[in-house]
Amino acid sequence: MKPTFGSGLLFDSYNETANKKINGLGAINIFRAWGFPSFRQATALISIFNLRKGSTTGEILLRKPHAIDKQSITSFTVTTDSNNSCMTAVIPLSLKFNEKGRHFIYAIFHDYKSTLKIPCIVELQKWPTFSQEERQFVRKHRNIPLGPIRTNLTCQQCSHAYIFEENILEEVLPPGGVTRFPKSGEFECTECNETIYLKDIQGQIRFSLKQMLSNIMRGQ
Ligand SMILES: [Zn+2]
Repeated sequence: MKPTFGSGLLFDSYNETANKKINGLGAINIFRAWGFPSFRQATALISIFNLRKGSTTGEILLRKPHAIDKQSITSFTVTTDSNNSCMTAVIPLSLKFNEKGRHFIYAIFHDYKSTLKIPCIVELQKWPTFSQEERQFVRKHRNIPLGPIRTNLTCQQCSHAYIFEENILEEVLPPGGVTRFPKSGEFECTECNETIYLKDIQGQIRFSLKQMLSNIMRGQ
């Protein structure tokens, strides 16, 4: 009896029903990025058949475009108390993409030969910009809640916390303790000099600001 992979899909999240079925929420085929590196969380739901009683271990790997080698993402363990059983494995993934294009996520077992390949596409989004008309609208309607949008970030290296702010109006300066996103998209931690990559996060924020603004402008 050799365990084999059935199929697999990526989701934003999942939940479990009262009768132990797994529901995937928000199927992912495309990751939209506004800059690189781009960090994304996903949950892989993978069906596995012919499991042996006890634990079976394996690994999730990522293959980038043009790359020959695969990069390890995480390992997993599935446990069952009967032979010849099947299950849906729930595997949380922390993904880091450095470039756009087709990527492959692989699942392998440490002790058995079976491979599952899940393709996904990383798409680089157009950088959201605000037109003269849009900025003028925001200046005229200061009572409309249109940002600034702030985000809390901690340095991965030293855990120092920062608040970054994005504002449609470039002339509005953030208050003390709040930092504007750097033009280069890279911020050097003032405590430990680690580089914090912000382009993708800033792009996401600008994209939602742009959506909010065009909804409001359409409603006027
Ligand atoms: Zn730091």
